[in-house]
Amino acid sequence: MSEIRLRFAPSPTGYLHVGGARTALFNWLLAKKEHGRFILRIEDTDVARSTQESVDAILEGMRWLGLDWDEGPYYQSERFPIYKESVAKLLAEGKAYRCYCSAEELEKKREEALAEGRKPKYDGTCRKLQGELPGKPYAVRFKSPQEGVTAFDDLIKGTITFNNEELDDLIIQRSDGTPIYNFVVVIDDATMGITTVIRGDDHVNNTPRQIQLYEALGYPVPRFAHVPMILGADKARLSKRHGATSVMAYRDMGFLPEAMVNYLVRLGWSHGDQEIFSMAELVEKFTIEAVGRSAGVFNTDKLLWLNHHYIMNGDPQRLAELLVPFLKERDVDPAKGPSLPAVVKTLQERAKTMLELADGAVFYYRPEVVYDAEATAKFFKPELPSLYQALLAKLEMLADFSHQPIETLFKEFCTEQGIKMGQIGPPVRIALCGGTVSPSIYEVMEVLGKEETRRRIARALEFVKAQG
Ligand code: GLU
Repeated sequence: MSEIRLRFAPSPTGYLHVGGARTALFNWLLAKKEHGRFILRIEDTDVARSTQESVDAILEGMRWLGLDWDEGPYYQSERFPIYKESVAKLLAEGKAYRCYCSAEELEKKREEALAEGRKPKYDGTCRKLQGELPGKPYAVRFKSPQEGVTAFDDLIKGTITFNNEELDDLIIQRSDGTPIYNFVVVIDDATMGITTVIRGDDHVNNTPRQIQLYEALGYPVPRFAHVPMILGADKARLSKRHGATSVMAYRDMGFLPEAMVNYLVRLGWSHGDQEIFSMAELVEKFTIEAVGRSAGVFNTDKLLWLNHHYIMNGDPQRLAELLVPFLKERDVDPAKGPSLPAVVKTLQERAKTMLELADGAVFYYRPEVVYDAEATAKFFKPELPSLYQALLAKLEMLADFSHQPIETLFKEFCTEQGIKMGQIGPPVRIALCGGTVSPSIYEVMEVLGKEETRRRIARALEFVKAQG
């Protein structure tokens, strides 16, 4: 069998939408699995709406998800001469014709058809014209077959059949000379050797027109797989109304790319009841035939669950690197303070997002811990200064300042002082972190180190004394 060639063909009129990202991912996975090639093509024929900013945003989103491409990005805007040639070919072969109908005439006919309860469809006025009308502007229309059916076997949806009489003569080139999407997509997919087109099912209705064009141009027709849309909880097509739809917005909200990939792939594809998939496993197990026919509903809780899984099990070194920009946003310079991977290790079990991880890490790097008023009111008791004092002396003696010996030291300390852990644990936690919620205090102390731990307790001691 010849090499499988797939593509992702976004229009650069916004950011990388989660739906687009899933389409790209399915294409990418199949290309990897089948040792084929994945091509990126920017569909920027709509010059007015396409922007470089948007191209950059799409590329950034693809890179973040790890969806690298083997060829491209190709830009349709650089391929206009190729399209022109194909228009000329179809005209010369009598498979397309010049249409001189003005926009006003067409609109009038459309209104008439609607008023008479007919489906508006081009009436073929210029199909019958002989010769050209020099000097008059024209669009170019494709002579669609008027009888019979156009059908294809969709790899996801099964056989789809259209009656040709439903399809009117499609404009392939506007009167300003620019070609339209349904035409250029065929030329691009054909000349780029695309064997399988995986795209959103909002394009199902374009497919018969494209198949007719493939046939008219003498190109082999690729296989098609139309992926159902992603819906919001109310079953309407996912839009901004439901929350963020941009992939990069999810990065900014603290999601990991592997969680996003895992989430998106499962939104429409399954492999038994397995939920967690590494990229390598996806490449091994993915098949387009196992993509479901019904639309997936975007569920942020499930995405959070996956994100928590990947943070909890992530490599602290890598998480630390990804965390740096989030800490900078919080005015924290992780170079000044304890080792960030060590900090991450103490927090990753509980953090559901990188934002939570960043929030949790802040206290390690703030020399002046801000004490939570409610916590101090509850735990800063009159006997505390002498307990703190005794504890400082004991900590000073500890040679191995790692969490196990520290924990043992605290147990001994409680026995010696005749107190319960509940009397010393929370005030120490407040001294170190400012509040009553933090990772294990023994782990925190290990990460802060002996000197910093003692400095923080000594500072709290002064604070309690000053309180009187
Ligand atoms: N540019 C089209 C879009 O963004 C994709 C067309 C296709 O995949 O055939 O919807």
